[in-house]
Amino acid sequence: MPLLPRRFERLQSVLNHRMGDLTVVMEQVDKPHNLSAILRTCDAVGVLEAHVVSLPGRPRTFNNTAKGSQKWVPLQPHPSIEGCLQGLKDQGFRIYGTHLSVDAVDYRDCDFTGPSCFLMGAEKWGMSDEALALVDQPLFIPMTGMVQSLNVSVAAATLLFEALRQRERAGKVPSAGEGIPGGADAYQRILFEWAYPQVADWCRREGRPYPALTEEGEIAEDLPRTLKLRY
Ligand code: SAM
Repeated sequence: MPLLPRRFERLQSVLNHRMGDLTVVMEQVDKPHNLSAILRTCDAVGVLEAHVVSLPGRPRTFNNTAKGSQKWVPLQPHPSIEGCLQGLKDQGFRIYGTHLSVDAVDYRDCDFTGPSCFLMGAEKWGMSDEALALVDQPLFIPMTGMVQSLNVSVAAATLLFEALRQRERAGKVPSAGEGIPGGADAYQRILFEWAYPQVADWCRREGRPYPALTEEGEIAEDLPRTLKLRY
């Protein structure tokens, strides 16, 4: 089945608003429904990609809560939290650790309009000391109830929507793909992968570049007939 023009427009519109400078790191968040819910919020807010450091031997899994958002927000796995956070810091991200320490601040007093990463801790024990050592600013979401913490996916959603709110106010939400690091080439690459995932897989296996797309989103090249062009 060919890609319908309306669907292609939708893919472009979503990608136009994606933000490469807003992300989430999930440190040992390993309940599938939490991973899924966080990715779904990332998709809703416009996060380009998220990161995860899993417990050894615990593969990441998603469940129905994700509603397919894992297709639109790649979850980058990292072997260590130090490597993950240092890599993001080197790219200019400020690491916000969700942790109740003496120097933690109310999240509403933070400025998330610059490159921002929310570090979310494990359901049972929060974040590790190794992660904490790399945090630029610990923060918390104030609570007045009997229970001491929020569900991790609820905390992530609260922070991500606050970041979106601040960026909207500051006129810093991309609208034409300018939030994609790597410029036009990266934009076209992601768009192709979203539009034609099977063809993209095939191109990678064959070691060939992705074909160009027409304005309507059709593949502007003859490809082997066996290759499914289904969306
Ligand atoms: N007992 C754990 C602790 O001491 O951190 C509770 C972990 S909590 C269920 C899981 C994660 O949700 C936390 O590591 C943090 O990322 C996030 N979280 C929960 N409540 C939060 C709050 N009020 N402010 C900020 N983050 C919160």
